[in-house]
Amino acid sequence: MQILVTGGAGFIGSHLVDALLSQGHQVLVLDDLSSGKVENINSAATFKQMSITDENLVTVLMDFQADAVYHLAAQKNVRTSLQNPKFDAEINILGSLNLLQAAIEAKVKKFIFISTGGAIYGETSSLPTDEKHFEQPLSPYGLAKLCFEKYLQLLSQDKMSWSILRLANVYGPRQDPQGEAGVIAIFLDNILKDLPLKINGDGKQTRDYVYVADVVSAAIKVLASEKNDIYNIATSTEKSLLDLADTLQKITQKDFEIIHQEAISGEVRRSCLSAEKFQTQFSWQAEHDFTTGLSLTYKWFQTRL
Ligand code: NAD
Repeated sequence: MQILVTGGAGFIGSHLVDALLSQGHQVLVLDDLSSGKVENINSAATFKQMSITDENLVTVLMDFQADAVYHLAAQKNVRTSLQNPKFDAEINILGSLNLLQAAIEAKVKKFIFISTGGAIYGETSSLPTDEKHFEQPLSPYGLAKLCFEKYLQLLSQDKMSWSILRLANVYGPRQDPQGEAGVIAIFLDNILKDLPLKINGDGKQTRDYVYVADVVSAAIKVLASEKNDIYNIATSTEKSLLDLADTLQKITQKDFEIIHQEAISGEVRRSCLSAEKFQTQFSWQAEHDFTTGLSLTYKWFQTRL
């Protein structure tokens, strides 16, 4: 198939591109390189440096004759979205809408949107949280992701099939430890630089950490599906920051210092998603347990330095 991957120079997108190419698909990566890196892009893919907000997007899709679109390009910084909600909406709502309209015009058959679980469900006492749980975004980032989910369902009717994947906290090789990155990338970077690990509050806040290869295998499985639906992609297991630091200590065998900082007000205390629906319908399972995924990620960070 001819497949367009927006955000294909980024962390998750570049792994997805590798997997699609290995299955024999033709891949066009569309990325403005605002946080992605050229070195992440598989040389067998075609690369177009362009923003999803660009009005010439439809020409790109038509020239490429895309059969399917994976949409991962995003302004993904929650703090930026709180400081500048308009900027966030310009990329995550209007840019995504621009892409969706172009895909419909170019007669794309399948649209897969990479969304978020934690930022959409917000604080909830129903754990692991399933897809039926009401949405309660706590940031413009989560709100914009939810908003585009609704646009996708509304505008694609009878025109193309779609899947929405709400990811838990993804980690793995190529995750950028700079800026507001995933905590695992930041911790590993600090450990390798002999810097202390900074934990906000007591460290008992939990997340559902899913390894990037498991996210990619889920994303590949929905490509052929004609059932339009929303799925959580997660391990359905809660890990606290203290659990994370403890496992990293065992894997790295390093005696790093942990500094507790002031808790962040408004931070979600516990987050864990139920992936039962996806597991049942697609015979999928997150195959990397926490220790295995972290060991692989640590090895990659070691080679990177
Ligand atoms: P990333 O920053 O590594 O990848 C995002 C990519 O999008 C980058 O390559 C960036 O250059 C590109 N991009 C940003 N704005 C663009 C624009 N206007 N036009 C074209 N390209 C643009 O981040 P990631 O962690 O790989 O996230 C990928 C997707 O997964 C995002 O949509 C994010 O919201 C979603 N997601 C990620 C996580 C996670 O834990 N990493 C969790 C849930 C959802």
